[in-house]
Amino acid sequence: MAQALGELDRVTAVQFPFDNTYARLPARFFTHTAPTPVAAPRLIRLNRPLALQLGLDPDSLSGEEGVAILAGNCIPDTAAAIATAYAGHQFGGFVPQLGDGRAILLGEVIDDAGIRRDIQLKGAGRTPFSRRGDGRAALGPVLREYVVSEAMFAFGIPTTRALAAVITGEEVARETMLPGAVFTRVASSHIRVGTFQFFATRDDVEALRLLADHVIARHYPHVIDAERPYRALLDAVIRAQAELIAQWLLVGFIHGVMNTDNMSVSGETIDYGPCAFLDHYDPTAVWSAIDRGSRYAYMSQPAIGHWNLTRLAESFLPLLCDDNDAAVTDAKEALSAYAPAFEKAYQTGLRRKLGLFRNADGDVSLGRALLNTMADNGADFTLTFRRLSDAAANPGGDAAVRSLFGEPSAYDDWARQWRERLQQESIDAAARRNAMRAVNPAYIPRNHRVEAVIRAAVDENDFRPFEELLAVLSKPFEDQPVFAEYARPPEANERVHQTFCGT
Ligand code: AMP
Ligand code: MG
Repeated sequence: MAQALGELDRVTAVQFPFDNTYARLPARFFTHTAPTPVAAPRLIRLNRPLALQLGLDPDSLSGEEGVAILAGNCIPDTAAAIATAYAGHQFGGFVPQLGDGRAILLGEVIDDAGIRRDIQLKGAGRTPFSRRGDGRAALGPVLREYVVSEAMFAFGIPTTRALAAVITGEEVARETMLPGAVFTRVASSHIRVGTFQFFATRDDVEALRLLADHVIARHYPHVIDAERPYRALLDAVIRAQAELIAQWLLVGFIHGVMNTDNMSVSGETIDYGPCAFLDHYDPTAVWSAIDRGSRYAYMSQPAIGHWNLTRLAESFLPLLCDDNDAAVTDAKEALSAYAPAFEKAYQTGLRRKLGLFRNADGDVSLGRALLNTMADNGADFTLTFRRLSDAAANPGGDAAVRSLFGEPSAYDDWARQWRERLQQESIDAAARRNAMRAVNPAYIPRNHRVEAVIRAAVDENDFRPFEELLAVLSKPFEDQPVFAEYARPPEANERVHQTFCGT
């Protein structure tokens, strides 16, 4: 393998127990690509608990050679170092070749739970897929991805993880010159809807089959026993995405760029770009500066998930049935399971957020009524549910909730119906409160906080706000009185109006 990797040193001191199954797929799935070294790497942060889970030694990883690997200045002797090929619909328009333009997959390790995980460097230099890009990442987006992906993990939402962030000592040219960084991402795989599209658009059925087999072995081994494993695989991906997007809505998350190349077939949240969380509840909210048509607004996400999965189902047609009409019928049947799977996951989650343990008629409209009232009254999404957790146990807590509503009496009207419904279930007050607090976070990565972290790091070379925000968000369901400020919504002058990819 080393032959294709130019002059880069292969090193052995930091042990990476890689086993690279993707790199053993046929050559058209990827290109061997070495990272491009950077001038002066410096470790910003290593996720030590994650390193241990992956069977990596955090001390050697944060040592000189470890940081050199995390910066792409050398590679472990066991690494594959590939950039993978994929296609994708970007804002609705199909691009037959995208691929890892600034990401290099070092390889796969088996974690302490027996799960295969990719370790990838993002921002490690140009690849054959870079098109006009520089292959680099700016520090700001790296910190955003670090913070938000780790927060998603703490919420219990499937996500890629942050293993490390390294500053490169080089600048990258965006709208202005910015410090460059390399992000080390861990994913259960980096296979996207767009990876299937890449081969489907080339009528490469053999590759589609190999890819599907790889995804089955890796993510959905149970479907092997199904009568029709590829149909069962499609069903499984559809269900995983429906459930994932329901989880997003329940914490107020907006992905921002749900292109088909940014949707993982494993069901993990991937490719954090101009993502953001709702402060006040607004179902039409969209921050991303590049999303001019509001395609990826908060409440559009479930429908866009279906649109993307329809593109996946189209790519699956040759795997479903030799007869195209029959395959289309089959694909439509698979897709028809999406909306019910989404609704079930969303409604179950909303019921839990409201402190309801049983399923009763009217629960959905009760939930919807609260959300509508919140939207009409500019109520903060996270704080409303968090404070409801206390109000459920003690009506004395109502004052704290109602104060979040522009017209507080709007809350009172809703709360009367809610309390009637709560009384239908004889749940111990403390048990209900605890159950609600376990699903209604006190802390989310509020946009103004993430911006402040980026500003301090980029403008002042000060990473303490980054560290502090990460610490707070590692326990999002616990009250942390010293960090009470982090629960506060932005003041008018602190509000972030747009987020940027920074790519
Ligand atoms: P994204 O919108 O970040 O998911 O990226 C979409 C496509 O553009 C992918 O193929 C990326 O690899 C590529 N890309 C994004 N940023 C860069 C960059 N700075 N250099 C090269 N390719 C990039
Ligand atoms: Mg992407």
